[in-house]
Amino acid sequence: MKVVVLVGGVGGARFLLGVKAALGLPAIGDESDSTHEISAVVNIADDLWLHGMRVCPDLDTCMYTLGGGIDEERGWGRVDESWSVKDELAAYGAEPTWFGLGDRDLATHLIRSRMLRAGYGLTDVTDALCDRWRPGVRLLPVSDDRVETHVAIEDPDSGESRAVHFQEWWIRYGAKPTAHAIVPVGADEAEPTPAVRAALDDADLILLAPSNPVVSIGTITAVPGFTDALRSAAAPVVGISPIVGDRPVRGMADACLSAIGVETTAEAVGRHYGARSDGGLLDGWLVHSEDSAEVPGVDVRSVPLLMSDVDATADMARAAFDIAGVEVPR
Ligand code: GDP
Ligand code: CA
Repeated sequence: MKVVVLVGGVGGARFLLGVKAALGLPAIGDESDSTHEISAVVNIADDLWLHGMRVCPDLDTCMYTLGGGIDEERGWGRVDESWSVKDELAAYGAEPTWFGLGDRDLATHLIRSRMLRAGYGLTDVTDALCDRWRPGVRLLPVSDDRVETHVAIEDPDSGESRAVHFQEWWIRYGAKPTAHAIVPVGADEAEPTPAVRAALDDADLILLAPSNPVVSIGTITAVPGFTDALRSAAAPVVGISPIVGDRPVRGMADACLSAIGVETTAEAVGRHYGARSDGGLLDGWLVHSEDSAEVPGVDVRSVPLLMSDVDATADMARAAFDIAGVEVPR
């Protein structure tokens, strides 16, 4: 079975652990001769240049989580991390100081940046990094072109209107200043990679992880060629709600949703994605047990949606297979 999953960082990576387990694969690593194939289409719009290095937070969170190198408590970055370089940069007064790069993590960014400067595309670079981590899922940046989420805010210090990189809004300011607009700059001109197109064409099932609907899933589907390919794919498309009990399970997705005029409910997000039969994205929509939703043209089901451990997450993936009417060959 070939499954494609649209993902952001922490929520997406955790969901992928469950998809692997539901297919009988080891959640971590790739030691298996399974015939199942999982491809993750990963958000790239959080990516940034920092101290001359290309940092790809969502790709790295997926790679480290699935490859067994993540700091599980933080949910991002390398386990057993140290911060000597960060301290040294601070001693130089080097900006920005609000984005912490760990010493171990730095090696990843050094290799990525060197390869990008040598002319490789992000897809090839990611494959090369995954040679070490063996995530057991093909991690596919949605595009090799640059897409970058910018957020229009009033500067908390000067009060002036300005557009900041998503990371500055999210990490430096904790998403506190009201976002007047969230724009995936460059998405319009970006092309999905041939690998992403092939994955969509060959898929038996396409899933939208319970990732941030605006700055993870929304920035993937902002790439027009991607969404055209998703809409015309033969496979059913099922989404999993990141909103449980009218709240994001973690993080500040509510601040993103209000910026695009969508309520923080599973129903509103389902309607925002819309029915594939009606120019939207979904055939099926999973909401949490106590939630209900009516989304015209979409098959909605309520099941437990808390990723408390890999088993619970695998049950979510199985519910998605089920609503799609896809049987997993043993
Ligand atoms: P990020 O890029 O690291 O912010 O991660 P994602 O965009 O992939 O995922 C963030 C989203 O995951 C948040 O909006 C959360 O609401 C959602 N999320 C986190 N844990 C859970 C969970 O256990 N269940 C569900 N349904 N959603 C979750
Ligand atoms: Ca992210």
